Amino acid sequence: MDSSHMGNDLENVLFTEEQIHQRLDELAQDIGRDYEGKDVLLVGVLKGAILVMADLMRALPGSVPMDWMAVSSYGSGTKSSGVVRILKDLDTDITNKHVLIVEDIIDSGLTLSWIRSNLESRSPASVEICTLLRKPEAAKVEIDCKYVGFEIPNAFVVGYGLDFDEKYRNLRDIGTLAPHVYS
Ligand code: 5GP
Ligand code: MG
Ligand code: MG
Repeated sequence: MDSSHMGNDLENVLFTEEQIHQRLDELAQDIGRDYEGKDVLLVGVLKGAILVMADLMRALPGSVPMDWMAVSSYGSGTKSSGVVRILKDLDTDITNKHVLIVEDIIDSGLTLSWIRSNLESRSPASVEICTLLRKPEAAKVEIDCKYVGFEIPNAFVVGYGLDFDEKYRNLRDIGTLAPHVYS
């Protein structure tokens, strides 16, 4: 879906599809260099990260396996509950593996810091994080995130995999949702 089909639900386009692809290509170059000669497993967090994963993995050199986790921390609202529950665990044993978590967005950081310590408890060789978006002003916990696409202001965004109540994931661009949609 293109932004032009959003009516007045979208307040602002923050990043176009082209800008997102270009930034992911740059991150893929950094990642390719940093993991040269190492086997890396990409771990995506469902469902928001599906498009980041799809575009990032195709920009990476060599053959790179992926796996997925699903956790719940948000209901249908726009605020993090801080409660994390595994809905779908990895299929892969990550012992001695280099894990790169692929995320759509870090908001409070509560979900990802929980996922990271959960994965670290499984004796991987390393765990790093790649996120397309980060909201520095919203951080409730410090997260060491090695690869960040864009830092954004503290507003609720949708598109490119990111939903509001399961809607707008198929929007090509990323934008802020007009307050009338969720208030
Ligand atoms: P956190 O625990 O860091 O606050 O948020 C974790 C998850 O909440 C993200 O992976 C994402 O799925 C969702 N989330 C956080 N901020 C936003 C936002 O601005 N828009 C959307 N659509 N989802 C968000
Ligand atoms: Mg996510
Ligand atoms: Mg969501």
